[in-house]
Amino acid sequence: MSKRLKVFKFGGASVKDAAGFKRVAGILAAYKGAPLVIVVSAIGKTTNALEEVVIAHAKQTGDAFEKLEGIKQEHYALAEFLCGQDQELLTSLNDTFVEIEWVLEEKPEDNYDYMYDQIVSVGELLSTRIVAAYLKKTGLDTAWVDARDMVRTDNIFREGWVEWTETEARVKKVMEPLLEANKMVVCQGFIGSTSENFTTTLGREGSDYSAAIFSYCLEAESMTIWKDVPGVLTADPRKFDNVVKLDALSYREAIEMTYYGAKVIHPKTIKPLQNKNIPLFVKSFLDPDSPGTRISSDVEDHYPPMVAIESNQALVYISTRDFSFVAEHHMSYLFQIIADLRLQVNMMQNTAISFAISVNDVDDKVDRFAETIQEQFQARIERNLELITVRHFNRETLNGLRDGKIVMLEERIQGTVQMVVKKVPALSRKEFPTV
Ligand code: ASP
Ligand code: MG
Repeated sequence: MSKRLKVFKFGGASVKDAAGFKRVAGILAAYKGAPLVIVVSAIGKTTNALEEVVIAHAKQTGDAFEKLEGIKQEHYALAEFLCGQDQELLTSLNDTFVEIEWVLEEKPEDNYDYMYDQIVSVGELLSTRIVAAYLKKTGLDTAWVDARDMVRTDNIFREGWVEWTETEARVKKVMEPLLEANKMVVCQGFIGSTSENFTTTLGREGSDYSAAIFSYCLEAESMTIWKDVPGVLTADPRKFDNVVKLDALSYREAIEMTYYGAKVIHPKTIKPLQNKNIPLFVKSFLDPDSPGTRISSDVEDHYPPMVAIESNQALVYISTRDFSFVAEHHMSYLFQIIADLRLQVNMMQNTAISFAISVNDVDDKVDRFAETIQEQFQARIERNLELITVRHFNRETLNGLRDGKIVMLEERIQGTVQMVVKKVPALSRKEFPTV
């Protein structure tokens, strides 16, 4: 593909309402006629709302249809507000909803993750239909394409792993002719499909990753993620006051921070871009002319302290039941289970007869882990912890972060400190007897 191709990703926050759609169209107007692929997430909080539908259906609470109705109303209202009585658009939305209704009319599937993907994936199918139709109305020649015809994954639902060779061939086959015909291509983030054409998702917040997949396959000149923040910041502005925007970041630094919970980019996004040396821009859709952050290989690594916080950590203390040492064969057994469950281990430490790991506490994976190993090992789980990762730390930053926390596990390697912490519980103090 021509080196001029750009890939833009717009997240749910950028298309959460009609004003958002107008803003996106305003940004894209400047690219009329330029080769561009636009990857879009589900509107606003639709994915969360769809997750509720899945839960209601799985538990047969009786209100799955009612929950779906709210999502329907929102999408139809937005479509009609932006595009009027565009029958083609309304029919495509209707067809998409009918597919979920079929699922909801059946008994819930035994395979929860499979069912989840069939339902939750429609968020992106709906949003991209509206985006494509609306952009067309503003005078842009758009083509809507289905990511499931391109992104091939394995059969692991809710966290499909990309099969690259197949995906690359399909992306080229579908997208290149459209781009050559000067179409602006609009595609869903987050979704793909298996070799048997079952829909999969790539993991929550996976649309960034999708955009990187398309960038890789088409050898884009650059990729841009449009967000509601001015770029990559030194910490989450919702948690800290004095954050600073970084002008440039290396791939390595970006991967380190996002892996440990910096929410600005999905952690899987960087690798495909790095592999083809495609720069990634993180820019604000509220201020599209400001430069944002550039992530690439040609950056001198010199940074201020940066902090990433991953909440929902569980610390699992594992010990042998018979006082034997936690030896290498135990480790290999434990890690096989960790890998099978696709648990993310963020920190670990061992002593002679015990081993501690800090993992992301998602779904029931941690309980399943403890259950699986219980014959040989005792596992004690401590939940609701935070993993704090500080890169390029100085003493003040560390002290500030430790304040009011109990540090359960700490480790330092090459300018990086990681700690698993617990909030100090509010002390219930007795009145001091004064007389
Ligand atoms: N809509 C999906 C989610 O909210 C994917 C994404 O937004 O990147 O997780
Ligand atoms: Mg999102």
